[in-house]
Amino acid sequence: MSAAVEPLIAVEGLRKSFPIQRGLFGGKAGEVHAVDGLDFAIAPGETLGLVGESGCGKSTAGRLLLRLIEPTAGRVSYRGTDIAGLDRAAMLPFRQRMQMIHQDPYASLNPRMSAGDIVGEPLVIHGIGNAAERREKVAALFARVGLRPDQQQNYAHEFSGGQRQRLGIARALALGPELIVCDEPVSALDVSIRAQILNLLMDLQDEFGFSYLFVSHDLAVVEHISHRVAVMYLGRIVELTDRATLFDAPLHPYTEALLEAVPVPKVRPGGGRKARRKPLVGDVPSPINRPRGCHFHPRCAYAHDRCRSEEPALREVTPGHQVACHLHDGGPRLPLALPG
Ligand code: SF4
Repeated sequence: MSAAVEPLIAVEGLRKSFPIQRGLFGGKAGEVHAVDGLDFAIAPGETLGLVGESGCGKSTAGRLLLRLIEPTAGRVSYRGTDIAGLDRAAMLPFRQRMQMIHQDPYASLNPRMSAGDIVGEPLVIHGIGNAAERREKVAALFARVGLRPDQQQNYAHEFSGGQRQRLGIARALALGPELIVCDEPVSALDVSIRAQILNLLMDLQDEFGFSYLFVSHDLAVVEHISHRVAVMYLGRIVELTDRATLFDAPLHPYTEALLEAVPVPKVRPGGGRKARRKPLVGDVPSPINRPRGCHFHPRCAYAHDRCRSEEPALREVTPGHQVACHLHDGGPRLPLALPG
């Protein structure tokens, strides 16, 4: 995001840890550091992809952004207002402007309400319009997301997975949001349906101009929809840059390894990706007992002594490209070329 653009939402030093209790009445046995000092901003109309393996804290980051859970520390600024400390009443106008689309729409849709009532419920909760106006709005939302008018009478279990996600999208649109957090919105869908839903999300953004935080473990999906991408590892952002740079010239060894692990095209017309990278080995360590220094060092093919003791800071290495790695902060440079 250009420094000249006023962000829609910005987070600084955002942290969330969950205490681990010892037994039913015991004291605190430890902490799960789910999100550990995030700094990023999203511009109006922008999609920021947030990627990483499961357990890296990306869904928690999305929930913190919407204040569905309270941060342990840090600021969440919405158009310049810090919403992290607002009480319920003061938060209400912001709730209208920030919505969420879930991975599993079935779990998030009330099975006892008709589809029309599900989509119209946010309007009722926020006291928007009279009954006739709400009916008209719901009908327009059904049409816009590609559902038939008669489907308003149906219940969630009568819809297919893709239709349920359309229902979730219609509900998220009801209040005219400026920001939508999409938490793995196509992961539970058949491959044939994914592109339809992604294209719908992109068309809606073109039409209404809202921003997305798009949380996904699927790099191919993130590449399709994002303007910029942040890569998370064990609660921290390790690389953040524009989509083309991240996929064609990644700098962090974790990003390189993630790209090596997914079946995305390695060569494109007019460009292409680096031929071979170090593959990802092992699992994400426990967020309860994180490795010292760079959290990625036990899995990193380029780890050296400094990595085991000193945590790398997220630095801007070229305009708009941030990386947290000692290979890119003036530390000792190691050869990145792979043998063979
Ligand atoms: Fe690898 Fe060291 Fe960079 Fe961490 S800081 S990613 S261990 S080279």
